[in-house]
Amino acid sequence: LDEQSRQGQKMEAIGRLASGVAHDFNNLLTVINGYTEILLAELPPGGRAHQLLREVWSAGERSAGLTRQLLSFSHKQVLRPQDLDLNAAVAGAESLLRRLIGEDIQLVTLPGADAGAAHADAGQLQQVLMNLSINARDAMPTGGQLTIRTGAFDLGADHPRARLGAPPGRYATLSVSDTGCGMSVEVKGHLFEPFFTTKGVGKGTGLGLATVFGVVQSSGGWVQVESEPGAGTTVCVYLPQVAAPAPPPEPPPSTRPPRGA
Ligand code: ADP
Repeated sequence: LDEQSRQGQKMEAIGRLASGVAHDFNNLLTVINGYTEILLAELPPGGRAHQLLREVWSAGERSAGLTRQLLSFSHKQVLRPQDLDLNAAVAGAESLLRRLIGEDIQLVTLPGADAGAAHADAGQLQQVLMNLSINARDAMPTGGQLTIRTGAFDLGADHPRARLGAPPGRYATLSVSDTGCGMSVEVKGHLFEPFFTTKGVGKGTGLGLATVFGVVQSSGGWVQVESEPGAGTTVCVYLPQVAAPAPPPEPPPSTRPPRGA
C-alpha cells in the first residue's frame, strides 16, 4: 500500500470511531448543558456558585464545539457536491476569514483567471479555507500577511504526483500562504495525522489538516505543503478542474468585406 491509501484507511477507521463516540458524547452533553442552563437561571447572579457554574457551562459549550468538529471530520454531514467556481467561493468566504484572522493580519486574495470550477461541496470547501486560515493565523501571533491564490495546474503523466496515482489532466489550485513561523521537517512529517498538534491542550485539536486532507482526497485531489522555518508556509490544494463549457460560436461578422476587395 502506498502512503496515501494507508493514511486514507487510518483516517477512515479513526473517523468511524470518532463519530460513534462524538454522537453518544453529544447526547450526554445535551443533558449536562441543558441542566446547567436551568440552574444558572435559578441561581442569583454574582454569587460564587453562579460563577463556578458559568465555568462549567462554558466548558460544556467548548466540548459541544469539539464534538461538532469531530462529527464534521468524520464526514457525517450531508454533502452536496457541485461545480463550484473557486474564485466565487473564496470571495464568498472573505468576510468570514477576515473576522477569523483578526486585525493584525492582512488578507490578500489573488484570484487567478484560469482557476475555473471544481466538483466539491461548498460547505467543505469553506471548511478547508477556514482550517488553513486558522493555521496561518496561529503561525503569525504578531501579525503578518495571509495570501489566498487560485489558479490552474496541468498535471503531466511524468509528474511524480501522477506516478503516485493522480490522473493526469487539469487541476484547479487554491493556496493559502502565511508569513509566519514556518515548521520543522519533523512537524511537516506528521501534519496530516489526526490529532497531531503542537498548539497545546485546549488550543489545537490536530484535526484541521486531517480534515483538509480527507476533503481534498475524496474530491480526487491532493495537498502540497511548502514551509520555511522563520519565513512562512504555503499550503496548496489541487482539485480536478471541471471542464469549462465550450465557448459560444463566434457571431457572424455584421459587415462583410465587399467581394473581391
Ligand atoms: P491544529 O491546528 O489543531 O494544531 P492541524 O492539523 O490544523 O491541527 O495542524 C497540525 C499542526 O501543523 C499544527 O499544530 C502546527 O504545528 C502545524 N501547522 C499547520 N499549519 C501551519 C502553518 N501554516 N504554519 C506553521 N505550522 C503549521
